[in-house]
Parts: sequence; C-alpha cells; structure tokens
Amino acid sequence: MFSKETIAAFGARKTPFYFYDLALLDDTLSACKKAADQYGFHVHYAMKANFNHEVLKAIQAQGFGADCVSGNEVKKAIEVGFPADKVVFAGVGKSDDEIIAALQFDIFCFNVESVQELCVINELAGKVGKTARVALRINPNVDAYTHHNITTGLEENKFGINQWELPACAEYLNTAEHLWLEGIHFHIGSQITNLTVFKSLCIRVNEIKTWFEERGFNLRVLNVGGGLGVDYMEPDQNNIANFSGYFEIFNQFLDRKLGQEVHFELGRALVAHCGSLISRVLYVKNGIKKHFLVLDAGMTELMRPALYQAYHKIENLTRGDIKEHDQKYDIVGPICESTDCFGKEVQLGESFRGDLIAIRTAGAYGDVMSSRYNLREQSEPFYLRKS
Ligand SMILES: *Cc1c(COP(=O)(O)O)cnc(C)c1O
Repeated sequence: MFSKETIAAFGARKTPFYFYDLALLDDTLSACKKAADQYGFHVHYAMKANFNHEVLKAIQAQGFGADCVSGNEVKKAIEVGFPADKVVFAGVGKSDDEIIAALQFDIFCFNVESVQELCVINELAGKVGKTARVALRINPNVDAYTHHNITTGLEENKFGINQWELPACAEYLNTAEHLWLEGIHFHIGSQITNLTVFKSLCIRVNEIKTWFEERGFNLRVLNVGGGLGVDYMEPDQNNIANFSGYFEIFNQFLDRKLGQEVHFELGRALVAHCGSLISRVLYVKNGIKKHFLVLDAGMTELMRPALYQAYHKIENLTRGDIKEHDQKYDIVGPICESTDCFGKEVQLGESFRGDLIAIRTAGAYGDVMSSRYNLREQSEPFYLRKS
C-alpha cells in the first residue's frame, strides 16, 4: 500500500496525520457502483463514516447519494454537490431546527425513527408549507452478529420503530396532511461480515412490506441500510469489500414489485481501506513482562480500539516486514487514559524511536471521531492522488 516515495514523503511531515489513498477510494467506489448497477440498486453514502471534503467530492463525483445523520451533514452534503433528491436524513433525535433546514433543502426523504417524530415532522412541514417525504425506520429484530456496541436492529436498541408500533404509525400516516410515505427503512448494524445476516434481513423486510401493502400503502422505496463489513485483519489481500456478494443476496432474497426501488446506505465498506493513521514512535519502554511502543497518535485521533475494542492492523513502515527480530509490543498512545491502546502483544520487527507506524483501515469512523481531549492538535490529511 505504501510506496518508497510515499514513506519518504511521510518522513518529511509532522505526525500524526491521516493518509488517504484516493486511487484506492476510486477503485472501491467503481466496484460498488458496478455491482449495484447490475441490479438497478441505489447507494447512498453514509457520511458519518468520513466527511473529509476530498473523500466526499470523490464519492459525489461517482453519482452516489448521501445518507446524513445530522443537520450539518445535510448542509455539507448539499454544499459538496450531492443533489437534494439524493439526500436522506436519518437519526433517532432530529431537532426541530434540523428538520426545518432539511425541509427547506427539499431533501429526498426523512428516515423516521418514532411515532412522535412523525407528528413533529408533520407539524413542522405544515408550518413551512411543504410535504415531507418519509420512510419508517423499522426495527426488524434481526441480530447482526457483530460487536454489541454496533448492533442496532434489536428490540433492545434505541433505534427505529418496533413492530408493535406499526399500526399506530399506519393510522397516523393515513391522516397526516403534510407527510408522504415513500417507503420503509432498516439498518441492523455495522461491520457485518456474515452475509447470511442480510438474508435474514430480506426475509423480515418481505414480511413487513407485505403488511404495509395489505393496508393499501404503495411503498416506492425499500431502504435496507448499510453495514457491510471489511477485512481489518488483511487489508492488503482484501482491500475492496465484497460488494458483488452483498448485492447478490438482496437481489436473490428481497421481493420487489415493478418500479420499487432498493436503496442502500454504505459507509464503512466504501471508505475504511483507503485511510490509515500515520504516527511515529516516541518512546520504546521495556518492562519486565511487556514492551511498549508509545506513539504520538492516540485515541484522540482514532477512537475505535478504545470504544469498541476494534482491531486495526499495525505496521512499522520504517523497518518494513523484517521478521528476524520480532518483538511483541503493546502499542499505546500519549493520552491520559488506560484505554488509549491500539493493540496488545502486536508482533512487529524491533522498533525504535522515530519509526513511522501505520494503523491501517482507518478511513471509516476514524478522523470523524477525533477529539480535542487533552487539548490535542488536529492536522491536515495527506492525500495520495490518482496518477
Ligand atoms: C451508520 C449508518 C449507516 C452506515 O453503516 P456502515 O456500517 O458504515 O455501512 C447506514 N445507515 C444508518 C442509518 C446508519 O446510522
């Protein structure tokens, strides 16, 4: 992934910083687009995974829509050039200001997460003289078999409308003057690598869709969310997610009527592999039982290990793949928290102060979660552009 020239260029820079391989991003986007187009599927990019301007520009240029979870994301999507009719707005707690702004942009659809929210959107749409297109985010009670902190489609999660609430929603929609039901929406979790989970989702969607159709609702859109996982263990061998396998499952198992659109909201799978966090070793601390590498990057730059015990592959770019002097290191950051650790017992060639370290597959939920805790600095990313 890193050429000699790239590593030399890193050496001239102050660390830590994010590295984005925009050529790999483009290849990933094309692979996704091609696989989706085969079945006429529509993909919205889940902006929360990475809202870096260059990354968004690349995604917008390839014709994806945008899936937003805040008013500022909606605003940013429009600024970057995503057409308003390809912008959707999800989230369990949309504020009145955010809803009004999105109504004024005439976005494609609100993914609504409760009966209460339906009422609020109806009222606000009436006030500003618009009809809000909405999709109901329904909790299908499907287990994503992923980390419990990123499972969202179970009844115990805060997300979505539970099935026993659907009659109340249907009744309300029949009388609400400023709402138009576009379709139904689901999102069951993230970093899903077992594709049979998506088959289970399709089966639930088919049942719920029938429930609505039997009550006279014509659903134009079936939105099945995102969640496709990537290979954090072997980012070089599998640097593009299995888009064709993923879309094929939906093509095979999701019932759709003529003219019914299928929408997806992929985040991680589009951007994870193109990003790495680049850092330097500040200190090598040798204990009796443990060796530590203290990096100049910490959980303030990449929070996933601290937040979800996430694994990221770690490489020493200065020493390369030397295996003779393998050591096991706990790789930690400078932040005053014990959870500020990128990996335990990581096997690396013997490492020294000043070595460049890459923390791989950090393009999704990396920089976007960075914080100023400990009054840390934020730096500009380094881009590898298409040649
Ligand atoms: C986060 C999120 C996504 C994207 O999830 P990925 O796992 O990154 O693909 C899609 N839809 C909704 C509603 C989300 O909250």
